[in-house]
Amino acid sequence: MNPFKYTSVKDSKTAMTAAATAGSKFIAGGTNIVDLMKLNIETPRQIIDINGLGFNKIETLANGNIMIGALVKNSDLAYDTTIMQRYPVLSEALLAGASAQLRNAASTGGNLMQRTRCPYFYDVAFACNKRVQGSGCSAIPGYNRDNAVLGTSDKCIATHPSDMCVAMAALGAIIHLQGAKGTRTIPFADFHLLPGQTPHLEHNLKSGELITSVELPALSFSSKSHYLKARDRASYQFALASAAVVLDIKNGIIENARIALGGVGTKPWRSFSAEKSLVGKSAGTETYRKAADMALAEAKAYKDNGFKIELAKRTLVQALTKVGEMS
Ligand SMILES: Cc1cc2nc3c(=O)[nH]c(=O)nc-3n(C[C@H](O)[C@H](O)[C@H](O)COP(=O)(O)OP(=O)(O)OC[C@H]3O[C@@H](n4cnc5c(N)ncnc54)[C@H](O)[C@@H]3O)c2cc1C
Ligand code: SF4
Repeated sequence: MNPFKYTSVKDSKTAMTAAATAGSKFIAGGTNIVDLMKLNIETPRQIIDINGLGFNKIETLANGNIMIGALVKNSDLAYDTTIMQRYPVLSEALLAGASAQLRNAASTGGNLMQRTRCPYFYDVAFACNKRVQGSGCSAIPGYNRDNAVLGTSDKCIATHPSDMCVAMAALGAIIHLQGAKGTRTIPFADFHLLPGQTPHLEHNLKSGELITSVELPALSFSSKSHYLKARDRASYQFALASAAVVLDIKNGIIENARIALGGVGTKPWRSFSAEKSLVGKSAGTETYRKAADMALAEAKAYKDNGFKIELAKRTLVQALTKVGEMS
């Protein structure tokens, strides 16, 4: 690990001043950034510990939206009574991720910012455009069973690893940020970037910007929701494919639908086309299967990961079926 300066901050103003120094990185739970520093994949010159900033509350706003502080731990969020009742899809997604020990340390903001698990990204002996811009992609000609089929480019096919983000994508969350010039918000769909020709750029944060909270819009039907994760082991494993589903069904007809996929996309993958195909249709297997075909219509298989296309479709159909049975 390279030498670095450690700065602990107690208020946002001091955090912004510290973050203005080039080569600075925030640390929250440390469950991702410390690993990356040990492997010399990230070599910050200054680590800014933000745990003294507060940002650790889950609050219901006057308009019914929920505001989640960026430092709320994944386990606290998963077991929050309001989240479990109103947004079970988020609670289930969080509990499907990592292990109990990691969830106790991992934060909401850190989870949003966690980096890919592509094995070539973690091994500095291999070329990787995400790690070293323009060096090449070892996964495209290499072993790519765990890589993405949606949103890929000829420069990078890495999946976004987060479970929590898949649920937040389906719920249409809003990210609240603070920078040197003030505060702003970004809709979830615009937060993570597709790899395109610049896979080293992964999100829409400006240099030194801090995530302060995540807002969940009040959805009257979000209690009818489910997160389903397919993986090689029953626990402590990243998704091969996952689906976050929220459905509003009245008299057997789907009036509203939210769908996002994980494990298959280069970013948490909200499928607007699949949602559209469901609205106005009778709830049932045939409708769900058509939506799944729609969600994966643009998928591109690589040498070892073609199986993910059918796996993602079946995962989505199963999740839709479960939510359909709740109505
Ligand atoms: C063995 C293992 C298994 C795992 N399995 C899963 C899994 O199955 N599913 C899953 O979803 N995740 C999994 N994870 C990932 C884990 O969820 C993340 O490491 C964790 O959520 C990151 O949160 P953190 O607070 O520890 O972030 P940190 O490591 O502290 O930070 C991560 C990044 O976020 C930045 N950051 C942190 N907070 C802020 C903020 N407020 N504003 C701006 N930037 C910020 C940091 O600068 C850093 O770049 C696993 C991790 C490990 C080690
Ligand atoms: S898929 Fe992306 S992260 Fe993996 S080796 Fe290629 S460029 Fe790197």
